[in-house]
Amino acid sequence: MNMSDPGCIFCKIVSRDITTEFVAETSNTLAFRDIAPLADVHLLVIPKQHHRDVLELAKNAPSILGELMNTAANLANTYTNGSFKLQFNTGAEAGQTVFHAHAHVLADNVKDAS
Ligand code: 5GP
Ligand code: ZN
Repeated sequence: MNMSDPGCIFCKIVSRDITTEFVAETSNTLAFRDIAPLADVHLLVIPKQHHRDVLELAKNAPSILGELMNTAANLANTYTNGSFKLQFNTGAEAGQTVFHAHAHVLADNVKDAS
């Protein structure tokens, strides 16, 4: 199984060929702000390995999907007041445009740090 796809924009973020500010990093996941935010908080959480969508990730690397969920939960706790959406667009008809598995963390509230 290919762990990286040279034509994939998220693999280029993983390899640092595209510079992006990370909001979280674990052994097998990375998180960063969506370049075109659709909500006050719009973060993307990705596995470092290339899997085309969440179904492939669940099938081929379920422990990494668990790690991704944990990263998303930590970010939701840090960046939102606890109300948020966790979204995996899967397939072009469902709006998936980047075919490297990713979760959107979306919230129209930002955690009050005070
Ligand atoms: P999808 O539509 O595949 O579920 O989500 C892909 C998301 O990736 C989109 O919301 C899009 O704005 C975001 N995106 C695409 N290219 C880049 C990029 O180079 N950097 C960042 N930070 N986000 C990107
Ligand atoms: Zn990729």
